[in-house]
Amino acid sequence: MKIPYVDISAQYCSIKYEILKEVEDVLASGQVILGEVVNNFEESFAALCHTKYAVGVANGTDALMLSMKALGIGEGDEVLTVPNSFIATASSIVLVGAQPVFVDVGDDFNIDPDKIERAITSKTKAIIPVHLTGRPADLNPILNIANKYGLSVIEDAAQAARAEYEKQRVGSFGATGCFSFHPLKNFNAFGDGGAITTNDIKLYQKLLKLRNHGLRNRDECEFWGYNSRLDAIQAAILNVKLKYLEKWVNRRRKIAFIYQEQLKQLVHVPVDKPFEKAVYHTFIIQADDRDELQKYLAKKGVNTKIHYPIPIHLQNSAMGLGYKKGDFPHVEKQSLRILSIPVYPELSDEQIEYIINSIKAFYAG
Ligand SMILES: *Cc1c(COP(=O)(O)O)cnc(C)c1O
Repeated sequence: MKIPYVDISAQYCSIKYEILKEVEDVLASGQVILGEVVNNFEESFAALCHTKYAVGVANGTDALMLSMKALGIGEGDEVLTVPNSFIATASSIVLVGAQPVFVDVGDDFNIDPDKIERAITSKTKAIIPVHLTGRPADLNPILNIANKYGLSVIEDAAQAARAEYEKQRVGSFGATGCFSFHPLKNFNAFGDGGAITTNDIKLYQKLLKLRNHGLRNRDECEFWGYNSRLDAIQAAILNVKLKYLEKWVNRRRKIAFIYQEQLKQLVHVPVDKPFEKAVYHTFIIQADDRDELQKYLAKKGVNTKIHYPIPIHLQNSAMGLGYKKGDFPHVEKQSLRILSIPVYPELSDEQIEYIINSIKAFYAG
């Protein structure tokens, strides 16, 4: 059996005619930049995230950058985040002119609230918790610390559309929530896309202009802005996929629960806390013999990935930040043990069983 790590075409096949119809309507309308289809998506996505507003942007990285720009974060400011995320969480901070300051993570791969306060300085302006793997970061203590020190919270929810923390959706807790619709995310377009959610009307109005050259209307430019709009064709595709997201999330969670039951004796598996609903963008197991396990699974036809093998503070691009090996022991240790196994909703029951049996065979061998 051959099981790819993700299967984008399988999802497409299941909703092909609906997608093609919506794309055709956009093309026939001639309204391919912003307009009604994008507005409709923004309204639906805000409702999904339990927020008042959503602003469609070009990608998740821009969602983070524009959030910081809108909050006035830039040169001379520090922003706290984690070193085990996708590189864009940190690069977006650098690209607005600010300095990323890393905080180690806990067993759930998310920022450890107990380590936040000691990283705060007089320059700190914001915290970017990442809901890594689709599991909400521990938002209550994070928000309490942010309040105490007057910091903004920007949620990096790129992997976590529809995830819940105490029955409330992620993206609705911080000043803004930042989403990516990259084809490999749990809620995805067929190309790049992103969105920013917020309950703050001032931020909302600023973000609408920031993503569109700072234009107040067709001819008047209020401030220097970006060209970072959600493409209308991608918005049309997302409008279709929104209807299926609950079903897809439930299927991911079901697969995760099967893995948890079947694999917990053999490898370290992630677990749900009672107050959260993770969406399992990735399902990451941890094993001492990770490299051998990955090779064995590849031989069996099961494709796996590592999210992420090189912590951000040890990347070449981060050299100027002054970190060294040993600075974030949890992240560094996890980077040697983590392995992401397929968890996409289109996996068949036979494929799930095959993956489980392959892992069992490795440990029986
Ligand atoms: C993918 C991702 C981003 C960046 O999103 P893009 O749409 O690829 O720009 C940022 N943060 C996290 C955690 C991500 O997984």
